[in-house]
Amino acid sequence: MSLESVSVIKEKIEGPTGTASFFNILKLEESGFEPARLPYSIRVLLENAARHSGRVHGALEAVRSLAAWPETVGMEIPFMPYRVLLQDYTGVPLIVDLAAMRDAAAAAGLDPGRVNSKVPVDLVIDHSIQVDAWGSEVAFSTNLDREYERNKERYALLKWAQSAFKNMRVFPPGKGICHQFNLEYLSQVVTTSDRTGELQAFPDTLVGTDSHTTMVNGLGILGWGVGGIEAEAVMLGEPYRMPIPKVVGVRLAGELREGVTTTDLVLTVTEALRERDVVGSFVEYFGDGYRRLSAQDRATLGNMSPEYGATVGFCPVDDATLAYLSGTARPPKHVEFVREYATRAGFLLDGKEPEYSEVVVIELDKVEPSVAGPRNPDERRPLRSVPSFARKMLDEKKASALAKAGGLGDGSIVISAITSCTNTSNPTVMIGAGLLARHAVEAGLTVKPWVKPSLAPGSTVVTDYLQKADLLGYLSRLGFALVGYGCTTCIGNSGPLSPEVEQAIRADDLYAVAVLSGNRNFDGRIHPLVKGSFLMSPMLVVAYALAGRIDFDFAAAPLGSEKGGKPVFLKDIWPSLSEVKSTVETSLSPDLYSQRYADAMKGDDRWESLAAYSDEVFRWDAASTYVRRPHWLSPSERTSAKKDILGARALAVLPDKVTTDHISPAGTIPVDSPAGQYLIGRGVEMIRFSSYGARRGNHEVMVRGGFSNIRLKNALAMGKEGGYSRHLPSGKVMPIYDAAVKYGEERTPLVILAGKQYGMGSSRDWAAKAPKLLGVRAVIAEDFERIHRSNLVAMGVLPLQFKEGEGCQALGLTGEETFDVLGVEKMAGPNESLKVSARKDGKEKNFTVLCRVDNKTELEYVEKGGVIPFVFDKLLTSVH
Ligand code: SF4
Repeated sequence: MSLESVSVIKEKIEGPTGTASFFNILKLEESGFEPARLPYSIRVLLENAARHSGRVHGALEAVRSLAAWPETVGMEIPFMPYRVLLQDYTGVPLIVDLAAMRDAAAAAGLDPGRVNSKVPVDLVIDHSIQVDAWGSEVAFSTNLDREYERNKERYALLKWAQSAFKNMRVFPPGKGICHQFNLEYLSQVVTTSDRTGELQAFPDTLVGTDSHTTMVNGLGILGWGVGGIEAEAVMLGEPYRMPIPKVVGVRLAGELREGVTTTDLVLTVTEALRERDVVGSFVEYFGDGYRRLSAQDRATLGNMSPEYGATVGFCPVDDATLAYLSGTARPPKHVEFVREYATRAGFLLDGKEPEYSEVVVIELDKVEPSVAGPRNPDERRPLRSVPSFARKMLDEKKASALAKAGGLGDGSIVISAITSCTNTSNPTVMIGAGLLARHAVEAGLTVKPWVKPSLAPGSTVVTDYLQKADLLGYLSRLGFALVGYGCTTCIGNSGPLSPEVEQAIRADDLYAVAVLSGNRNFDGRIHPLVKGSFLMSPMLVVAYALAGRIDFDFAAAPLGSEKGGKPVFLKDIWPSLSEVKSTVETSLSPDLYSQRYADAMKGDDRWESLAAYSDEVFRWDAASTYVRRPHWLSPSERTSAKKDILGARALAVLPDKVTTDHISPAGTIPVDSPAGQYLIGRGVEMIRFSSYGARRGNHEVMVRGGFSNIRLKNALAMGKEGGYSRHLPSGKVMPIYDAAVKYGEERTPLVILAGKQYGMGSSRDWAAKAPKLLGVRAVIAEDFERIHRSNLVAMGVLPLQFKEGEGCQALGLTGEETFDVLGVEKMAGPNESLKVSARKDGKEKNFTVLCRVDNKTELEYVEKGGVIPFVFDKLLTSVH
């Protein structure tokens, strides 16, 4: 089998804007390959490589390797995503970096306009809104007002970026959540572009600076979350280099039963795939059960890919995809074009089962109503088992648990949030929640007074169809009034609880609980006073708000009683599938989408009145505490990371499953923390602290927030939970930032020691930037989550992996040792073994670690001190 050129597989197709060429990978059969046996997700990579052959280094070799999948799993290929998706939490620091690059280009006597995006970029402002007000008609406008008050400086930067950078669109606050926006409006499934001088048709692909970018795989669009730094590189024209993945086929068999939702399914899939360990693999869905799912159901499956550990959960294109495009008002001509392209180019799901690396079967009729918690998304529990689990959990916390039945006590639900793109993108569960609310109101039920309920959909269309179905008012009457169109509780911006509830929790150190329809519930994420968080469908969120306690047994206990005294159980108010279906059919229509998205980029008066200018360089405001010029490109920062590490101390010794939220929290900035004190010192009142997430454009705040999560357990901190460490050899326990500063003054390099799945969770690049700025040279862990590993490399921090079966415990490491990491300077290729010696009290332990610099390009990054200096140097030397 040989392939010298891909021109032989080029064909023509009539697109919505004229005749386009495309690469028909099915024609590779004529060169001796068997493309029709490949998983659909691999076909997308193959088409991408074919289209870039001759223009991107290694693309033709990638065509050969991908066509020969699976023998070539692990080989490095370039991937050129068509577009980039950003949200404001990760987008602001990215724009700050680009603005700094423009300054550096100008300082080097070059045109700052060289720093520009080569691919389409969409930034949706969705992460900053907080639930300050709730339960009333004015909650939405109040929260939006506060959002603008707090974020003016950040939003002014984004407005500047929109006019200063080519190919960039910014969608103002109050429009929706980036992934739902992406599904409903931005995504094309198949797109055309004349970027190469010739109109070409190809599958839509993207990377995003948010880990749940994977949601778009529900539409058969290949895309995943990357670190902000990697996204910058893609924007500036660098290919994304990746190993050819394994593809785990997930056969969905049968049909979900009455009373079971897609949320129950995704929690079941998450649990099953976490057990299988699909980290680093693509997952691809198929089977008769798959065919029965709507595109929105599939998007929920795609959304939680990071939770089950896969790079993507890919859902091949079929009639349900096309029906979704039509239903969301994509032009009929475009939908027809997608059908024709997908059919001819081998992307339309046919009856033949592709070859997979392995197959996992999920029987849909065995899925049952479920929740996941209290602190990990893969801790699925059948709803029926929650009462006994909760009682046990609370008994362990306090013997008197639940004694205060009827009032606020341990196990009380204090937050109940219909939130997150994961579920608010799915009309079935949203209409289901509305119907449940209606039945509850009609039965005279009310939400318990200590619960803070909220409704924050990811799209304005949701409230339109709830309104059309006459359900919005019922949700509102239960307290689920609209609080915003954004991430809110899902990202931890749940806002304050009522003062009495906060006081009671603090006074009795209560085990307070949050229930939410989100995808993550890690320690400390949802609210600082909440100790356990449970993920569930929007319908169950409403049910638990009525119950008020996590140990509530829905099967045995009534939620209240009707006027005549008849007890009302959950089963009495739970809507039937046929009721949900018929309501969805009558309340959703394409015109809702076309009306809402007609002026998607237009903001309200507050947005329009923000100062905007289109200078090529940003006008930094020295007084700003939100946006500060970073120093990544200053000469002192641009040092190679390819150096041996000598005499390092451990800044932290961490357990398994440390999340990026532990490393760089997104939520509240405590007043007594180093970051809080920095802000006070700059004249910022506590009430205006906002959150770490909103302050990511200010490295001074972010470095002080490194490893400061209130639930962090650093074994060096002598039992003190939170952002503390023990400085050695002094033995003093102090804030981790202060310890790092002290080590910096002593010129002592730092390492982090950690357990399994280090860096799981969000894609935030601050989880790599903060350690770098704290002076961390290497993280030695049992293994790493995908995005965080590449973020570390991108910042020039070495991810070093203990050998199988080894770790701190097995090697007897306490973190009190002095560490040398040897062999770094001599690394000639990816994944080399390095020697580590750990010395304490005159004794020395030696062990080897695997350097998880996984490809040659990453080695170049390490050599240059990170991706930003690497890309910047290329820009400086490129001929314009
Ligand atoms: S998963 Fe949550 S935080 Fe992430 S984009 Fe969706 S709503 Fe926002």
